[in-house]
Amino acid sequence: MSVLIIGGGIGGLTTALALQRLGIPYQLFEAAPEIKPVGAGLWLPPNAMQIFQRLEIAEAIQQHAVLYRSLELRDFTGNLLKRLDVQRMIQKFGFGTYGIHRATLHQLLLQQLDDACVHTGKRLTALHIHPDEIHAEFADGSQARGEVLIAADGLRSTVRSLLFGETPLRYSGQTCWRGTIPYSSPDIPPDGTFEIWGPEAGLRAGLGYVDGGRVYFYLTLKQKPGKQLEAERLKPYLLKKYQLFPPFVQQLLEATEPEQLIHTDLYDFPPLNRWCSGRVALLGDAAHATTPNLGQGAAQAIESAYVLAHCLKQFPDHTAAFQTYEKMRRPKATLVNKLSWHYNQLVNFISPRNRGVVFNLIRLTPAFLDHLQLDRIYSVGYLSALENTVS
Ligand SMILES: Cc1cc2nc3c(=O)[nH]c(=O)nc-3n(C[C@H](O)[C@H](O)[C@H](O)COP(=O)(O)OP(=O)(O)OC[C@H]3O[C@@H](n4cnc5c(N)ncnc54)[C@H](O)[C@@H]3O)c2cc1C
Repeated sequence: MSVLIIGGGIGGLTTALALQRLGIPYQLFEAAPEIKPVGAGLWLPPNAMQIFQRLEIAEAIQQHAVLYRSLELRDFTGNLLKRLDVQRMIQKFGFGTYGIHRATLHQLLLQQLDDACVHTGKRLTALHIHPDEIHAEFADGSQARGEVLIAADGLRSTVRSLLFGETPLRYSGQTCWRGTIPYSSPDIPPDGTFEIWGPEAGLRAGLGYVDGGRVYFYLTLKQKPGKQLEAERLKPYLLKKYQLFPPFVQQLLEATEPEQLIHTDLYDFPPLNRWCSGRVALLGDAAHATTPNLGQGAAQAIESAYVLAHCLKQFPDHTAAFQTYEKMRRPKATLVNKLSWHYNQLVNFISPRNRGVVFNLIRLTPAFLDHLQLDRIYSVGYLSALENTVS
């Protein structure tokens, strides 16, 4: 079995590592000229870490990342709305949630891969499917051949549109600015992360330390997609929006240059009917994009990568492998997509009139309900059937 992987994001890189660990030959093609140290911070929840442990890279990640000993939700006046039981999480799953810069994770994954199998500057433009193999064609005129192709080319996947036509994206109603800056503040716990909900729809701030003494933060607000602000207007605009938040949020913004902010309108798409067709399988955001409200998009890509690699090892017939992959992965990816979308709607629903009710609803939700939901997401127990047959 020879595998072509399209996309060198977290999904593609983890797929490459999982295949490599199983001795399955692969070639990875990334459109960007190099896998650059870009992006902002990222939370790696227990499900992602359990997969990384199986891929023998969890220790390296732990050495670079920050383990969050507290995970909290607060309102803009500083009241605690929810505190997750991190100790319970660690006892049950062996890992808590870690904060790491996306670029650090990319580098750690890349270091594990065989250089000769990773090709940059290769933007896939066309696919040619033959009875026994698949040919990928790239913008520079080159081609690659393999038995199967895994498309980890992101939310706006070229491969997905070549296979299934355009997938309409669903706008969350929210736009987001992210930054990761060297920073120090007594108001930000060295080993905790929290999200603060604001007084009106969509308004949130999340922050926590990641590796390198940097603070990762994100700011969301409700607005139409596609709105851009010139650099000189951006900070005054955000400072005004976040004026009712605790002062350390504004101080963090003051310390950030506009060019250090990454702006993203937040989209997903409702669960697809199919992830695979013929010799091609979609993976990560290309297959099951989700809004980032649960901090699970990359974690789901990581789970999919591990499962798909194991299915290809177990089933010499790629059709059986792809069917099993979809069957195993679809329920949780769909759950995450739906829960995250509902959470997003709740944040969009907040108004100065109803915010007291919403905040109380969150404060009074019993912990066991949170545990029920999180346990379903964080558990990777469903893997044992697959792992027992492969090993
Ligand atoms: C604001 C925000 C915060 C988030 N926070 C978290 C978090 O804390 N935890 C978490 O788990 N998830 C988080 N996510 C989600 C996470 O970022 C994504 O789910 C994850 O990056 C998806 O990985 P991927 O590899 O599938 O796709 P991508 O990261 O989009 O990678 C796709 C890759 O494919 C390449 N590519 C695209 N087209 C082609 C082509 N034609 N040919 C070749 N290569 C191509 C791209 O250059 C890119 O490198 C967040 C997302 C957002 C927007």
